[in-house]
Amino acid sequence: MTRSSILRFPLALAIALALTPIHAMQAPLAQDSGRSAFNASAGFETAEGRFAADGRAVVLYQPGFRASPGGSAESMARDFLDAQAARLGIEHSPARLQTAFRRDDGAFSVVRFTQMLDEVPVYGSDIAVSVRKDGEIIFVSSEARPQIEAIATTPARSVDEVRGDVERALGLSAARDETAPRLMVYADSAPTRLVWVYVLRDESRSGAWEVVADAATGEVIDSHDTSLYVNGTATVFDPDPLTTSGATYGQTGYTDSNDADSPQLTAQLQSVTLNDITSAAGVFRLEGPWARCDDWDTPIGGVNDCPTPATSNFSTTRNDQKFEGPHVYHLIDKQMRYLNLTLGVTVVPNSVAGGVRFDPHGFNGDDNSSFTPSSDRLTFGEGGVDDAEDADVVLHELGHGLHDWVTNGGLSQTQGLSEGVGDYFASSYNRSTGHWTPSDPQWFWMFHWDGHGTDTWAGRVTNWNLNHSYPGNLGSGIHAQGQYWSSCNLVAWVAIGRDAMDKAMLRGLAMTSASSNQKDAAQAVITAAATMGYSPAQINALGSAYNTSCTYNVTVPSTDLIFAHGFDN
Ligand SMILES: [Zn+2]
Repeated sequence: MTRSSILRFPLALAIALALTPIHAMQAPLAQDSGRSAFNASAGFETAEGRFAADGRAVVLYQPGFRASPGGSAESMARDFLDAQAARLGIEHSPARLQTAFRRDDGAFSVVRFTQMLDEVPVYGSDIAVSVRKDGEIIFVSSEARPQIEAIATTPARSVDEVRGDVERALGLSAARDETAPRLMVYADSAPTRLVWVYVLRDESRSGAWEVVADAATGEVIDSHDTSLYVNGTATVFDPDPLTTSGATYGQTGYTDSNDADSPQLTAQLQSVTLNDITSAAGVFRLEGPWARCDDWDTPIGGVNDCPTPATSNFSTTRNDQKFEGPHVYHLIDKQMRYLNLTLGVTVVPNSVAGGVRFDPHGFNGDDNSSFTPSSDRLTFGEGGVDDAEDADVVLHELGHGLHDWVTNGGLSQTQGLSEGVGDYFASSYNRSTGHWTPSDPQWFWMFHWDGHGTDTWAGRVTNWNLNHSYPGNLGSGIHAQGQYWSSCNLVAWVAIGRDAMDKAMLRGLAMTSASSNQKDAAQAVITAAATMGYSPAQINALGSAYNTSCTYNVTVPSTDLIFAHGFDN
């Protein structure tokens, strides 16, 4: 890539955004609604089984019933249901029982029934009757709905009409069906209603949401996430193959070579856990609480779509277009958890809940990457090394997002501030992996794998302060100028450590606004640090970085002020 930037949105859109209400900081959506099943609530248990509060059986451990042997498993199970419907609370039900599933396990069979009103299934109904070959009923587990009223089963409104109501009620922007909608009878609560049941995925939230809506009024009766959140695995470079190997670009095997695999590069892959990805409808998706793959930018679809394997193992090598998706997921998830959970600084997208959106193959395939503030999305291009293969690129772009989110959209590019923020967070991460030391030139590099190579672009550096000064000699253009900001803060990083410096950076930036320059931001960071109770030694180290190693000339908060505010950090 040649340069990395935030994508500016058109002026008209910028004005429209300025008029929209202020977004409150949003916590990620809960992983699971924790919704309890219809029959899970308290009733009573005996040696015979588990019963609902009204006395009907939910589970019979010892049904004590033998059907006439010799019939099919289904007919024997029906013998039981005909004789014992009262025990299950369905003896007066207008619903009939339709055989839904049968499983033969040699010694016994399990036959499952669904309640039906006319030809419409009753939502959630399921009665599993287990029967031995000799007709003995050995176990019954029932989700039968006991209070079904005989309602008409022709929907007053179409599936699409009600769907429109659902989308408006839930604020869904681009909902699509995970499975085909179903017409059902809903008797979990009175009165019994005819409903449309949808399973929807939407841009605005994680997961696959089951929505139950009244087929006459469109009212949303229930909605909950049906996804299972699981951990997956993937092979990644972390942070990049040159950093982990100590090799330089151009050594045998360590070149891009049009995205080809080499034994040397493959040897740098590490197996990692992909935290809390989504499993639904037989596939696994890179959708979790902190990161979410979203093929929003061209090229769309095909090999450039987000991977959806049938198992939770996303492992592959760099030549595969499906390599970059899990690579970016891992890095964003790791960085967001570190900042939000380890450091305790809340920093999440302002406009969408449910994980930072990223397109691992976007930007028309060009050698560029970006963060788009209006939609809080990242996209990574190709050309030279695929941008998404280099943690420096991923975390630089995420850095623009962090800057935007802590300021509620007040990201500043004055003197390339936000470029410097991106470079700072990427370098902070790379250094924290412990592969380079201050005696290596690479300690001061940005874009370790994507840049600095013999046939890639030149990359950037983080010792820009050695031959530049503030404010008159920052260099030309926001990307060059931003190097001064990252360099000065990385001097402080060495003195006070990653945790303290990353935290002060975010808390300080949070106080700034859209025209803030580097000195404003430096003053904000050191003031934030002092107010959070950083020690005099830490504050003096920050002051030295800003005023001695660099020339911001900030006011260093006095030790008295620091003590006055105590050490409550
Ligand atoms: Zn940038």
